[in-house]
Amino acid sequence: MDKIIYDAIIIGGGPAGMTAAIYTARARLNTLLIEKSGCGGQMAVTDLLENYPGFNGGINGFELGTKLEAQVKDFGAQIVYDEVESISEGNIKTVKTPNAAYQAKTVIIAAGTKVKNLGVKGEEKFIGNGISFCAVCDAPFYKNKDVLVVGGGDSAVQEAIYLAKFAKNVTIIHRRDELRAAKILRERMLSYKNISVMYNTVADNITGSEKIEKVTVSNVKTKEQKDLKVDGIFVFVGLLPNTTFSSNVALDALGYIITDENMKTSIPGIFAAGDIRKKQLRQVVTAASDGAQAAISAQHYIEENEKLFI
Ligand code: NAP
Repeated sequence: MDKIIYDAIIIGGGPAGMTAAIYTARARLNTLLIEKSGCGGQMAVTDLLENYPGFNGGINGFELGTKLEAQVKDFGAQIVYDEVESISEGNIKTVKTPNAAYQAKTVIIAAGTKVKNLGVKGEEKFIGNGISFCAVCDAPFYKNKDVLVVGGGDSAVQEAIYLAKFAKNVTIIHRRDELRAAKILRERMLSYKNISVMYNTVADNITGSEKIEKVTVSNVKTKEQKDLKVDGIFVFVGLLPNTTFSSNVALDALGYIITDENMKTSIPGIFAAGDIRKKQLRQVVTAASDGAQAAISAQHYIEENEKLFI
């Protein structure tokens, strides 16, 4: 049997990748979506998306991910669960995973981002056992306990609000004197009496024998150190692009894929969409928009370059 050459291989099953798959499948392009773990991406571990248009009152991220996945399948795209290791250049691209080598005329990279570690002493020892990167996943373990949230962006404040419904006390430490999070989140946070913020504060060291016992924090201005007794730490200090697979697409200094406004990368026939690309606003709505644009660009690329695939 001849090896299948897909019209489009989409890497990543978050909102960008799944939207791209809906568009390519509706354009009747033979589409394969490769997802590492489960569809939904970071959205799937978000309790409430309240700024995605059309869902007044918000929608649970996992629920939206499940609906999107069903839509992708209904339009006829194929989904496989595997981790991409490399993407080759050439007229026909080869996408390799540990289990297979897939071929396609176009590739859309929508592999998203992963959470950044804090990088302080003691962190490695307690990851998965006291240190978490997902409140929706782990908050129930901290019922009536004291938790620390590190970070000052949308994730830190949104997740602190979620944690406050379980924990006794939630302390946010932020390295500056002003939170980066959206104003609406900061306002909402004020209504939770069990959330407090320590500004100009960083974590220096996490200690404990079996479990976390304390975190030593310091004030970046006064250099004064103090120990905080906490049961768990939730780290939200930003994101890193999932560009660890080998490919020659041009990246910026932080590792994000550089594209033009039509989602074209530096390599013809390879497109990027969503959080993995260099851009200003990383939201579900912009990921979906990128996915749609990348799919249309892939469709045009195939139509304009038919002779390359003979
Ligand atoms: P982020 O916006 O990059 O914020 C990271 C925060 O961590 C910043 O406040 C930063 O401080 C701090 N930080 C970075 N490195 C640190 C370190 N080594 N030690 C201590 N603090 C450190 O990341 P995010 O909050 O995960 O959000 C990522 C993207 O997703 C953003 O585009 C965000 O808007 C989006 N998002 C949106 C929503 C929503 O719309 N509801 C929810 C979640 C995430 P500085 O402020 O000093 O740089």
